[in-house]
Amino acid sequence: PQTSTDSLTQLPNRHYFTVQLRRTIAQKTPFYLIYVDVKGFKHINNLHGYKAGDEILGAVAARLTKAVGELGFVARIASNEFALILNIKNKAVANDNALIFAEALQSTLRQPYDTSLVQGLTLDVCIGLVRYPEHAMSADELMRNCDLALYYAKYRLDNAICAFSDELKRHSEERYKLEESLRRAIENGELEVYLQPIIDLKANRVAKCEALARWQHADGEFISPEVFIPVAEQTGLIIPFGNWLIDEVCKILQRFKQQAVDVRVAINVSARQVSDQDTIDYIISSIESYQVNPKQLSVELTESVLVHSYESVSALLVKLRQLGVIVSIDDFGTGFSSLSYLKHLSIDELKVDKSFIQDVGIKNNEDSAIVLAILGLAKSLNLQVIAEGVETADQHQFLIDNNCDCAQGFLYSKPMTVSDFSTWYKDYTSQS
Ligand code: C2E
Ligand code: CA
Ligand code: CA
Repeated sequence: PQTSTDSLTQLPNRHYFTVQLRRTIAQKTPFYLIYVDVKGFKHINNLHGYKAGDEILGAVAARLTKAVGELGFVARIASNEFALILNIKNKAVANDNALIFAEALQSTLRQPYDTSLVQGLTLDVCIGLVRYPEHAMSADELMRNCDLALYYAKYRLDNAICAFSDELKRHSEERYKLEESLRRAIENGELEVYLQPIIDLKANRVAKCEALARWQHADGEFISPEVFIPVAEQTGLIIPFGNWLIDEVCKILQRFKQQAVDVRVAINVSARQVSDQDTIDYIISSIESYQVNPKQLSVELTESVLVHSYESVSALLVKLRQLGVIVSIDDFGTGFSSLSYLKHLSIDELKVDKSFIQDVGIKNNEDSAIVLAILGLAKSLNLQVIAEGVETADQHQFLIDNNCDCAQGFLYSKPMTVSDFSTWYKDYTSQS
């Protein structure tokens, strides 16, 4: 009898697939090229072993072959990636309903798998598709565009299916340009650190500040970190960028010590940096070379970083704690994550997201209730709370009335250059 691994080994490989793709193109009838990527396979291999992994891929191959039927062609083009050629003549894709076909395929592949070694396992799959001849004429271009569609499908959280379009291509070209100019910006020092003060509401003094990156493009235009940080994160540029920032902030702390500016500086650390083994070493070496007191440094992580890389986060946090670096959870309340991590991880502070602060104190509303609940939770877990995005005197008063520790926002100051910050700090300190 045929085992499920047979259906895997019998599938054509990448080379044979390109031959078949060229043959199909030569027939000059419309078709779809579809890529299917099975997510998280490394994890399955690590957890259940390679044999189990192969059995499951075999079962995936069998389901794909069945779904495509007589009118299509299935190949395995990488360890966990499959390619399908689907003729438009196929009933399932009549009226160009390839997206409906892809959705059906996705739900078939998401059904639990039972093999001799693993039972009830479910998989997630991403699908990219491109249509011949509308979206590419040659085999190379079809494969390139299908790769692009698949790439976007992977970053799309809603249903992980993406069809190629001209707009997608334009978007990707713009991203590529942005990536290239960001690479140069890091090398040429076009980036600058701005600082935004954080007020200790009980002592009425400037206790801390947050380092926020600013990029003024060579042509004078300012590019928001909300635009370039995600690009840096996805392309890996976040590592050289993050190292640059760590260095800059340590230099600032060294200068502040000489100028008697006594504040802690917080840096934002993103998911890739957390998973990168070298980040902690970089922090340690910068702290040493600029002779910085580690207690003057803090690190902000969002809940999504915690959830996606829990193991590397907990390892990093333990090391940071040993050094004396303070750890805050950024945008707290927006991450849909379980609260249990607050108990298990070495955390010092919660930064309440600005969306909850907006309507606080106006009347008895839900946001006030949420902020009060966070303050209660933090108190019982012995964590400090910083309210973000404070813009009005009413919000400020509400926070004081309810014993919030610290506040940050335009009411006190916008982010400013390092030298403006020093001046501002001296003014504020002399007035209070
Ligand atoms: P974030 O960490 O939540 O930073 C706070 C953002 O809120 C900053 O925007 C700040 O300018 C803005 N903000 C501060 N006070 C107020 C206020 O009262 N009202 C309003 N409406 N906004 C306020 P910014 O500087 O544009 O940064 C946006 C995001 O970009 C940051 O959000 C952070 O996630 C990311 N980012 C910025 N710099 C860095 C960096 O150096 N590294 C990393 N990994 N991410 C960064
Ligand atoms: Ca932050
Ligand atoms: Ca924030």
